[in-house]
Amino acid sequence: MGEAITHVTIVGGGTAGWLTALLLGTYWKAQAGDRDNRRITLIESPNVSTVGVGEATVPAMPRLLQQAGISERAFFKHCNASFKLGVLFDNWNRDRKGERVAYINSFNEGPLIGGVDSAHHFLQHGAGGVDFSDVITPALALGRAAKGPRALNAKPYDQGVGFAYHLDAGLFAGMLRDICVARGVEHVRDDVVDIEKDERGYITALVLKEQARQPVELVIDCTGFRGVLINGALGEPFVDYSKYLANDRAAAVQIPHLDPERIEPLTRSTALGAGWSWRVPLYNRVGTGYVFSSAHRSDDEACEELLAHLRATGGDATKDAVPRIIPMRVGRTRNPWVKNCVAIGLSGGFVEPLESTAIYMIEMSLRSLLSYFPDRDFAAPLRDRYNKIATQLYDEVRDFICLHYALGNRSDSQYWIDAREALAVPDSLAANLELWKHALPTRYDLTSAQLFSYRVYHAVLLGKKVYETGYAAPPTCGVALKREPWRQYVKQVRKGIDQTVKAMPDHKKLLTSLRGEG
Ligand code: FAD
Repeated sequence: MGEAITHVTIVGGGTAGWLTALLLGTYWKAQAGDRDNRRITLIESPNVSTVGVGEATVPAMPRLLQQAGISERAFFKHCNASFKLGVLFDNWNRDRKGERVAYINSFNEGPLIGGVDSAHHFLQHGAGGVDFSDVITPALALGRAAKGPRALNAKPYDQGVGFAYHLDAGLFAGMLRDICVARGVEHVRDDVVDIEKDERGYITALVLKEQARQPVELVIDCTGFRGVLINGALGEPFVDYSKYLANDRAAAVQIPHLDPERIEPLTRSTALGAGWSWRVPLYNRVGTGYVFSSAHRSDDEACEELLAHLRATGGDATKDAVPRIIPMRVGRTRNPWVKNCVAIGLSGGFVEPLESTAIYMIEMSLRSLLSYFPDRDFAAPLRDRYNKIATQLYDEVRDFICLHYALGNRSDSQYWIDAREALAVPDSLAANLELWKHALPTRYDLTSAQLFSYRVYHAVLLGKKVYETGYAAPPTCGVALKREPWRQYVKQVRKGIDQTVKAMPDHKKLLTSLRGEG
């Protein structure tokens, strides 16, 4: 066994950098307590700003904050956080009458009834005219009523009906920074301008613009889309996903709430003419923007289209809004771990933010690194396994996002026609799409799934109403299912959802109380 690594250097002070520092410090402390003598240094450029977006999360976030010993109240107050019960997809598909379809991808999954997935029962018997999601989750009903997911007097981090958070990206990184620095992380504000390497090509030191060189043992590249170390200094190639995904730019803007007393506990994704617009309602404002394809819209056209959409949905609140353009590098670094450098966050890869998974992928990358943590010999099998898991994860997210476009049925703009007909479909997804014309997704179709279970795929396929609008005849599970157990289930679940909506507090009131202000 080689010598233990006692010093980790992180380059980059965005969400990826500070989350990595937080998780690493938390893990080391859990292992060795206060006797731990390992050090973390984070170097952050004072000249390059963070990407400044990334405000919707997945349900792993509450667990992460709790494990890291962060008070939920402090988090809500500091980050102007709100609850998120799912993503509401609007206008991505049209129904049989040509009307826009809206469906929710929530954090709840339907049960097995008689050992058979709810989706099969729904396809055979329907649910009295309501959508599939309305018989598996209260999320949309709570969202429509602007209610929160748990009681006013619930304990901190109580899971309620299942939720994630919305948070202010800048404030969140600032909160993580303050916590990490208070816990002993050394914070250096300077630019990394060069590296020194040994004869094997391993990074031995980082050369800074203003301050003394920083010797390193293991270095984590969290420098965002630039990939300063992994792609720049070490020359690891970037695997571009543009043949599968057209969107390569975003226009982002923050706007006030139209009605500050009514905070919708949902992320919205509304399809526009050449991409889609996100809407993330925080406690004090709304983060919104347009993820679009530069082949179909210029920046000016995209901004105008976004503002027109906001005016149509948000009234006068948008009159002073000036969107900021963010070029997006979509794809992944071929191997995110090279020699003694691991790329985490946008430097490792990015697939468009449709399912808000990027922050969660930062956590997963770090957890995976901790499982295969090296010593100073940097054994190749550790690196190989880490790279295999990380690249599978990016490809899994790519396939899931591509699914949304491949099964789109809009033909009202060239973008939506191209999204369905001109873009390549990854082989792994193409084979499943053929299969799912004959059978609903099963766990056997997604054997390396780390993030999206086959039931999440059910929610998308049924949410988009693909079996009603020409994709294929509804697949059966091989038998005619009894109607009565399903009818009873639907009756009970609908009653349960009504009761939940009545019982839950107003979202704004819940947030105010969580902040200790009401
Ligand atoms: P950045 O925030 O870009 O930080 C890079 C850091 O590196 C900065 O501190 C910079 O100063 C530093 N740096 C750069 N060069 C140097 C240098 N030479 N020396 C020293 N320091 C350097 N994720 C989600 O989970 N949910 C979402 O809803 C979501 N929405 C998104 C919407 C859009 C339009 C985009 C583009 C992304 C979205 N993401 C989302 C992704 C999310 O924003 C990022 O994963 C997250 O912010 C992490 O970014 P980062 O820390 O890797 O990079």
